[in-house]
Amino acid sequence: MRKKIIAGNWKMNIKPGETAALVKAVAEATKDAAGIVDVVCCTPAIDIPAAVAAAAGTHVKIGAENAHWAESGAYTGEISTAMLADAGVEYVIIGHSERRQYFGESDETVNKRARAVIAAGLTAIVCIGETLEEREAGKLEEVIERQMNVGLKDISSTDAAKLVIAYEPVWAIGTGKTATPDQAQEVHALIRATLAKLVGAETAETVRIQYGGSMKASNAAELLAKKDIDGGLIGGAALKADTFAPIVAAAK
Ligand code: PEP
Repeated sequence: MRKKIIAGNWKMNIKPGETAALVKAVAEATKDAAGIVDVVCCTPAIDIPAAVAAAAGTHVKIGAENAHWAESGAYTGEISTAMLADAGVEYVIIGHSERRQYFGESDETVNKRARAVIAAGLTAIVCIGETLEEREAGKLEEVIERQMNVGLKDISSTDAAKLVIAYEPVWAIGTGKTATPDQAQEVHALIRATLAKLVGAETAETVRIQYGGSMKASNAAELLAKKDIDGGLIGGAALKADTFAPIVAAAK
């Protein structure tokens, strides 16, 4: 049995001064899920100290939204996995489509970042997914396989214990359009089969694959009921405890 994982991706929303209140509200509103569902808030880097302090003693874990692959050095503006670990972060989102679209993230840099996250003992949430153009051109399978073969290169079956994959069709992120449960399950099954070729079938069965893209209270249960959908990566609905908590409840 794979434990479900519901992670909020706050993106560039929520100021440091607003962070403790949101983390505490999430912890309170999801307390029935403690021990049953992994509940994670991935916050902007500047919010991390407040988020970690507010989550202390609760079941909520804190994640970051990106990390650099170097241990330290002359990389102005970047944050290393050692810094994140030291700050109390447990998860790091890597390769979100917004980073690929606006910040030149490639499958190669995703791979470097993911390996650094895992080497630091943190869990990498590696995002993959096709654009609408790619889907309509019949390239879905090709895109997913390329993103995984390159993005997860040299991640061993042991490393896979620290890996979560988020399938996020780009056309469904922040658009209100959700993949149907059957559409999502079909891609999740493809992801698991591709993963089996990379880390072995037995290990692939243990890796959690989240769905992300306009997941909300009204569609979460149907999506999460699918065999290979092990959780959600939530954008807009993660910004308020009362829209996030019902998704966590649906995962129970
Ligand atoms: C995301 O950005 O990871 C996401 C899934 O956003 P939303 O839930 O707003 O579509």
